[in-house]
Amino acid sequence: MSDLLSHDLSRLPDLLEQARASALEFLTALPEHPAGIRPAPPAPLGLPDAGLGARDALALFRRRYEAGLSGSAGPRYLGFVTGGTTPAALVGDWLVSAYDQNVSNDGDSLATSVEREALGLLRSLFGLPEAFEGAFVSGATAANLVSLATARQWVMERLGHDVSEDGLWGLPQPVVLGGAPHASVLKALSILGMGRRAVQGVPCLADRPVMDPSALEARLAALGGAPAIVIASAGEVNTGDFDDLEAVGQLCRRHGAWLHVDGAFGIFAACSPAHAHLLRGLAHADSVAADGHKWLNVPYDSGLVFTRHLALQERVFRAVAAYLGQGPDLLHRTPENSRRFRALPAWMTLMAYGRDGHRALVEQSCALARALGEGLAASAHYTLLAPVTLNIVCFALRSGDAARRDRLLAALQADGRVQFTPTQYAGRPGLRAAFSNWRTREADLPVILAALEAAASKLQVPTSAG
Ligand SMILES: *Cc1c(COP(=O)(O)O)cnc(C)c1O
Repeated sequence: MSDLLSHDLSRLPDLLEQARASALEFLTALPEHPAGIRPAPPAPLGLPDAGLGARDALALFRRRYEAGLSGSAGPRYLGFVTGGTTPAALVGDWLVSAYDQNVSNDGDSLATSVEREALGLLRSLFGLPEAFEGAFVSGATAANLVSLATARQWVMERLGHDVSEDGLWGLPQPVVLGGAPHASVLKALSILGMGRRAVQGVPCLADRPVMDPSALEARLAALGGAPAIVIASAGEVNTGDFDDLEAVGQLCRRHGAWLHVDGAFGIFAACSPAHAHLLRGLAHADSVAADGHKWLNVPYDSGLVFTRHLALQERVFRAVAAYLGQGPDLLHRTPENSRRFRALPAWMTLMAYGRDGHRALVEQSCALARALGEGLAASAHYTLLAPVTLNIVCFALRSGDAARRDRLLAALQADGRVQFTPTQYAGRPGLRAAFSNWRTREADLPVILAALEAAASKLQVPTSAG
C-alpha cells in the first residue's frame, strides 16, 4: 500500500469528519445557494504523480468546484423533475459507499434481501399487485430500456423468434404504439435496435398529450390479433397528464398487446387519495418504469422497473457463466452484473417517513404547483399553457418568441433564486416548473413569483406582436 493510503487509513476518522463538515456546510447554505449556475470551468488538471492525499484532494475539489455546483437539491430548483434527498436517504447513501456491497447475487450477503424488501415496500406504496417483480436500475431511462427489452422479447416469442439468443436480424418490425412518449423511451428503442421511428403515433385527445382510447382501439383492431407494444404515460413531462390506464389497459388485454407504463414521477400520485384515481388501471400493465431520484427523494442514481413477466425479463438479461449463480439472482434482471446497493437509501427513507410521510410530500408538491399556477394566471406577464393537474406547471410569457423566452430563462438563472426548464407545448415556447422536493415550502412561493415578475419586467417589450 502506498504511504499516502496508509496515512489516510490512519486519519480516517478525521477524513470522515471533514466530509461531514463539508456536507453540512453545503446543505446549510443550500436554500440560498443559486438554484442553477454555469460559471466558466477552470482549465483541466493533469494527473499528479505523487498524489495529494484525501485531505488535500477534498480541499482542492471544494476550492475549484463547490461554488459552481447547482442548488438542485434545494427548494427552488424546479427544472426537469428534480427530487431532493431526505435526511434518511442521505444517511443511507453515505453508508452504501462505506458498505460497498455488490448486489448482484444472493450468495454472500443479505444486501439482496434489503433490495427485495425495498421493492415490496414500493409495490405497496404504488398499489401494484404482488405479481409484479422489480429491480433497482440507474433511472427511469434504464427502467424503460429493461421494460421495452422484455416487451420486445415477448412480441418476438409470439411471432416465433427468440431475440435474446438469435438477435433481430431479418425479423419483422414489431408494432409499437404511443401518444406522447418520453424522450427516454425513444432512446431505449434506439438502443434495442427497434429504432426511434418504430413508434406509431396514436392521436391524442383534444388539448391533452394523452392517447385517444378510441383511436388506440382502431389501431389495435386493425392488427387483427398481431402482437403490439403500447406505451402509456403515467405523468407526461410537460403537463403531468395521464393516459387513461383503465381504458388503455382493457384495450391491451382485449387485443393481446403488451402495456408498458412510464410512471417515472407520476406513479407517486398513488400515495395521495386525492390523485390516486389517475393510476386506476395500472395493474393492467405488463411493465412499469419509475424513478427513485425524483419524487421518492433519494439521491441519484435510482430507478425502478417492475414487470409481471420475470421469466421473460431474465431470458433477456441473464448472464451465464460458471462462477455466476443460476438462481433467482438480481443480476439476471438488469443490464448491470455488478450492482450498487441502491436499495438502501430507498429503504431508509420509506422506513423513516412511511406511507403518511410520502403522502404528505406528494400533496405538498401538488398544492405548491396549484398555487404557482394561480399566481401565474393572475400575472400580467404570464399565462398557463395547460391546467395544473399534478406537480407540474407549464406556462409561457404572454407575448414573444422562443428567443424572448430564452432571455427570460437567462435572466432567471442570473438571478439565482429559482431554476426552470424550457419546453415547447401546444405549439408555443414555454417553461416548466416541477415540484418534487421535500424542502420546498409555501414560503418559497412568493420568492418564486417575485423572481419571475422581476425577470419579466426587465425584458424589453417585444417589437412585434405574438
Ligand atoms: C425523468 C423521466 C424519464 C427518464 O428518467 P431518468 O431518471 O432521467 O432516467 C422517463 N420518463 C419520464 C416520464 C420522466 O419524467
